[in-house]
Amino acid sequence: MVNILDGKRVAAEIRAELRAEVETLKAQGKRAPKLAIVLVGNNPASEVYVANKLKACAEVGIEAQAIRYPMDITEHTLLNEIAKLNNDASIDGYIVQLPLPEHINETAILSAIDYRKDVDGLTPENVGRTVQGLPSIISATPRGIRELLARYNIQTAGKHVVVIGRSNIVGKPMAILLMQRPYLSLPGMSASALGDATVTICHSKTQDLAAICRTADIIIVAAGSPKLLTAEMVKEGAVVIDVGINRVEITNNQSPITNTKRFRLVGDVDFEHVAPKASYITPVPGGVGPMTIVSLLQNTIQAYNEHSR
Ligand code: NDP
Repeated sequence: MVNILDGKRVAAEIRAELRAEVETLKAQGKRAPKLAIVLVGNNPASEVYVANKLKACAEVGIEAQAIRYPMDITEHTLLNEIAKLNNDASIDGYIVQLPLPEHINETAILSAIDYRKDVDGLTPENVGRTVQGLPSIISATPRGIRELLARYNIQTAGKHVVVIGRSNIVGKPMAILLMQRPYLSLPGMSASALGDATVTICHSKTQDLAAICRTADIIIVAAGSPKLLTAEMVKEGAVVIDVGINRVEITNNQSPITNTKRFRLVGDVDFEHVAPKASYITPVPGGVGPMTIVSLLQNTIQAYNEHSR
């Protein structure tokens, strides 16, 4: 029987825990942790993500601020703004909402973030530290997936995990976390549940993806391609984690009033046909998405605890 990995419920549970942690800090006379979100331009999807992050911060008592810049800001000016955030002692962590406009070099911007404030875990320093097993801030989506697995007591040790996708944000750090020795796991998480997996990373040039997936105990799909993972690619009883967020048009459902197209969010997994074969599966929405946001909050509190001045 399939079990839904309910990221929405688990994220709410973690937010309640974080809220208690922040309240304790305040009761001790300390200030609340503070997150800043740098937003360049007005990409509609980014606006939604930022609004969700601000709402989640408010719920746990983390102070949060969106700092907006116009679409035509130069890379030089943005780098100056990043330097200011690095030096602002009132801000414990900040993120630069991606994607950035094309004229700005994303790598240059991310590399300029002080790794101690890099609560998205995307700086070369944090990624390198994660790879080496040093204390680091871990990229929010992989951290959230790992926590979701841990909270459902799904062991990864000795399992074959297939990760589809090799981005710096999801695929690569996910693979690193899964293959780590468990003593490198995050504080507060059950070490026995995490790491020690045998990991295969797949991407668009992988040959016979289906055959590789059929050997997986756990499949994590982060490709951005609707229905990429079909039932034929999944062995009976596998755990399936769907990271994808794709906006697909609802056919034959144009609003007669506004004459506009309607969309819905789907993942990378053919949920309807894969779910009956899986032992556990994440839905979209309500699976990995809420876990990513709550990981950002955890990373902010981690940065506060480790470096607040
Ligand atoms: P990228 O576009 O950066 O990377 C996609 C990866 O998937 C690439 O490595 C690509 O291969 C691979 N890929 C694409 N199509 C195929 C295919 N047909 N077969 C095998 N591999 C394929 O995406 P991200 O990692 O940033 O995001 C992936 C998805 O996850 C997106 O839908 C995104 O919206 C979503 N996402 C969701 C989050 C959440 O919180 N739920 C957070 C972050 C992202 P190659 O390298 O060869 O091009």
